[in-house]
Amino acid sequence: MKFSKPSLIALLLFLNLAHATDISLPEMGSSAAEVLTPEEEDRYGRQMFYEYRRLGYVVDDPILADYIETLGYRLVAHSERPEQNFTFFIVRSNDINAFAAPGGFVGVNAGLMYVAQREDELAAVMGHEVAHVTQRHLVRAYEKMQKSTIPIALAMLGALVATRNTSGDATEAILASGIGAMQQQQINFTRHNEFEADRIGIGILYRTGFAPVAAADFFKRLANETRANGEGPPPYLRTHPVTITRVSEAHERAEKLVTEEPVVASLYKPDDAKFNLMKHRARVLSSDAPSILVADYQRELKQSKPAQREALEYGLGLALSRAAMHAEAVSLLKKLLDRHPDHLTYLISLAQAEVAAGQHQAAAARLLPLLNDYPDSAPLKIAYAEALIASTKTDQGRLAAETLRPLINKRGWDPTLQLTFARANELAGDEDRALEAHAEVALYTGRPFDAMEQLKRLLDRPSVSYYQRARVEARIAEITPYILELERRRIHPETEQRLGLAR
Ligand SMILES: [Zn+2]
Repeated sequence: MKFSKPSLIALLLFLNLAHATDISLPEMGSSAAEVLTPEEEDRYGRQMFYEYRRLGYVVDDPILADYIETLGYRLVAHSERPEQNFTFFIVRSNDINAFAAPGGFVGVNAGLMYVAQREDELAAVMGHEVAHVTQRHLVRAYEKMQKSTIPIALAMLGALVATRNTSGDATEAILASGIGAMQQQQINFTRHNEFEADRIGIGILYRTGFAPVAAADFFKRLANETRANGEGPPPYLRTHPVTITRVSEAHERAEKLVTEEPVVASLYKPDDAKFNLMKHRARVLSSDAPSILVADYQRELKQSKPAQREALEYGLGLALSRAAMHAEAVSLLKKLLDRHPDHLTYLISLAQAEVAAGQHQAAAARLLPLLNDYPDSAPLKIAYAEALIASTKTDQGRLAAETLRPLINKRGWDPTLQLTFARANELAGDEDRALEAHAEVALYTGRPFDAMEQLKRLLDRPSVSYYQRARVEARIAEITPYILELERRRIHPETEQRLGLAR
């Protein structure tokens, strides 16, 4: 498949992680909590996540982020550890896969969303991954894994260093051999955890308001479809083999829940219409060939059943916009909006297409009246700010910065938000504030040394206000332990530069 790199990188980082704690090897059988502290888990997960993003594997779209985060947190609220931190994100990959990393980072591939037919199928996979995290399976797997994988970890680290002077081929070979060994092991020691994740995930699914049988149905359908196509199983089924036992246990568990536990009235009602739009949005935004996608959508629309048509039209509208066929995109999205005049996703999507078409005034006018109705909508505020910024006028830049400012406290970890905020401040003439936001973008997109340097440079500027200076100093103090940790692990600025991390 085209995007096989994410799994490679995850593994690489996972192995680096093994290296990071090799100073004090715990005894086999020691408790999971002793191997990695929650803080360490969070730090390693974070590093992996930022690295993913730096390499372009995270679909950073405010509408999709809002969707997957809301769905994820909803599931977590019904898990055994609702207080645990989670970060849900969509991976730019057509492979059918999902995974959890230390620290509660749960990635769902666009390809998995695409093959799911209902929201509860997506939720089933996410609930399963949430259960891996709440049951600390990763840490336990890691605990068993590390002794035997340390040589591989060292080789991998060596491979990274070796790329400085040699061609990439040697690196690839070392990676491939290491990964083969890893995959073999991974399946062996997580299979019993898989059953536990199934069992607990189905409970989460049910208590959230989804059909608990969705997990069994989805796995079975995936297995049947890939068998019918004569393809090998997708990555998710390779790590989560669909056996008769697994499916029947999932079924039994679902039935047991339904008969034993009363349904709670306040349950969430699955929103398949929204899910269908989101899966097409993920498909379009993760594609690197929008014009081919336009043709695909046109063909699929001709063959579609009436029930599928609207989501396909939405996908086509987005694909047209991405393929720079702006007039067609705007006209199609307007048609959808005519049918549902208050549809927030359509309103924002049309406004974005209008901005891309150079009609930023129409876009801003379309979104302005919504700000009062949806005061907490990050996608709406970001889209509105983008429309304002497109005007290239100073006062509009100021208005954009004002619109985004309340969001910065709430989701400052969102690089799309920070980047839009930076551009708004640039336009407004507040270069100091823009630089600070750019430093945050650098940090969250896997360029931590760059971020640190930008923050320090900011302190040299006499124009920086007292309050901003205090804030920047506090931020430097916050990031310093992370930088020191990276330096301990021999990831130096020059390495960052060599790997293309620095700008
Ligand atoms: Zn699993």
